[in-house]
This record gives sequence, C-alpha cells and structure tokens, in this order.
Amino acid sequence: MITTIMIERIIALERALENYRQYKTSIEDLETDVMYLKQRLDAYEKRVIWAKYCKSPHKCPVCDGSGGVKHPLTGLIEPAKCHVCEGKGIVWG
Ligand SMILES: [Zn+2]
Repeated sequence: MITTIMIERIIALERALENYRQYKTSIEDLETDVMYLKQRLDAYEKRVIWAKYCKSPHKCPVCDGSGGVKHPLTGLIEPAKCHVCEGKGIVWG
C-alpha cells in the first residue's frame, strides 16, 4: 500500500536526482573548460620558453651590422666599436 508519505518521499528523491543530474552536467562542462584552458596554457608556455631560450641573431640596429661607429657628419665608419653589439654587428633577441 502506497501512502502519502511514500509519494512525498518519491517526489523528493526525484527532485534530488534531477538536481544531481544538473550539477553533474555543470561539473562536466567545467572539466571540459579546464581541459581546454590547460591546453591553451601549455601552448602559451611553449611559446614563452621558445622566446626565452631560442633567440636568433639580428643585424645590429645601431651600427647597421658594421660593428663600428658612424661619424655623425661624414657617415664613415670610425675605428671605435659599436657599444650595443661590441663590434660584432650582430645582436641576439
Ligand atoms: Zn652594433
């Protein structure tokens, strides 16, 4: 025999089950978001490491690769070394 109390208890359990399903869906959505963000973070960290440790040579912008110092009036290269690239004509960055 089903009593009113039993019916109320079943309704309460059905509501609890529905709440559980909604929370479970929300948690699964959050887990998907977290996994996506971890992948983005990993890719970003790889780019940062690449930029930090894998520098490439560039022509010195101050002496234009000559390694010397241009005279401001004549434009001729003087015997002094460029202070930025130390006379090498190349900077790393
Ligand atoms: Zn230079």
